[in-house]
Amino acid sequence: MAVYFDNAATTIPSEGAVAAFNKGLLLYGNPSSPHSAGAEARRALEAARKSLALQVGCKSEELYFTASGTEANNSAVYGLWELRKRYGKRVLLTDSEHPSVKEPCRRLEKDGAELVYVPTPGGKLDMDFIKEALKTPTALICVMLANNETGAVYDIKAVRDAITKSGSRALFHCDAVQGFMKAEGYKQLLRNADTAAFSAHKIHGVRGIGALMLRSNLHPPAFILGGGQEKGIRSGTENLAGAMAFAAAAEEYGKAQTEKVKALREHIENRLRALPDVDLNLPEKHLSGILSISLRGIKSETALNCLSAEGIYISASSACSSGQAENSVLAAYGLDKSARESALRIGISPMNTVEEADALIDALVRARARYGRI
Ligand code: PLP
Repeated sequence: MAVYFDNAATTIPSEGAVAAFNKGLLLYGNPSSPHSAGAEARRALEAARKSLALQVGCKSEELYFTASGTEANNSAVYGLWELRKRYGKRVLLTDSEHPSVKEPCRRLEKDGAELVYVPTPGGKLDMDFIKEALKTPTALICVMLANNETGAVYDIKAVRDAITKSGSRALFHCDAVQGFMKAEGYKQLLRNADTAAFSAHKIHGVRGIGALMLRSNLHPPAFILGGGQEKGIRSGTENLAGAMAFAAAAEEYGKAQTEKVKALREHIENRLRALPDVDLNLPEKHLSGILSISLRGIKSETALNCLSAEGIYISASSACSSGQAENSVLAAYGLDKSARESALRIGISPMNTVEEADALIDALVRARARYGRI
């Protein structure tokens, strides 16, 4: 039986999500069709939207379904830039944003944007830097809710306060893909954002469905043009089954799940602390479900391969950066080269058990004893 601790990369769909998905598949009508099969599909889609909006803490009409968190991030970055580029050319983003925010921002440079990266040493926003940067007219600021590699939870409210205090007209996008349902007080925090991105497969939904929260006072140009679905913001026939599974997964992810992850995290941390030469890369505020460690003496890839051979799955950092030679997020956090080279990310979910956690730690100990070089 596989032991899966790569839950920051993706999660196993829950039974509830799969049941909702299957139900959605049978609602074969196109939600835009005027006949009754279409109406039935439309009702189910709007019920999923309403339920999800409740979990996000926004109005139903502020939530748009997309095909992924990546798409939601791209559309927010491009859309908000269009709304404010005449006000200021500056785009602020943290140095540890996900590529689905970083890359669209980089493309804006072709349109005259000046990118300014906010440092996040130790997983903490440099607020003095933000306050100083906002003195220059700024179109857009992107700060994620929780980091996918270190689990750091950033102070979204402080960002909003800084924007307000500076009198800046900057719009604020928050990538909430990892923090949604998991970061303490996430609903309150998200009230501070103008747009936010979500993804179902990080919370035991299915892949291929995400959502964009867009405040109703904002009217950016559409990112995907076509038949005018999702009030013209995001054309394309909606993924009804995916949306229903997303809503079901979010409904299931409550206090019990959060508490279970917290307890498992504590257990794993306690066991790791008893081992020599293990650094826990712990931001002051972090998600319980993401634990970054540096297992000194063994390269990340070697440890991963050893574990994988035993059917135990974790990751070196993020699934997205695994092909890259250098990890910029861990460098931004402040890890030295050797700590980065031995970094591992443990992604914990409520589906994991204490027995699995013990199997993981035992396997890490064995891997280092067998292949460790230092
Ligand atoms: N943002 C963050 C912080 C993520 O961790 C991910 C996925 O790894 C994404 C965005 C992209 O989401 P999706 O896989 O739905 O495109």
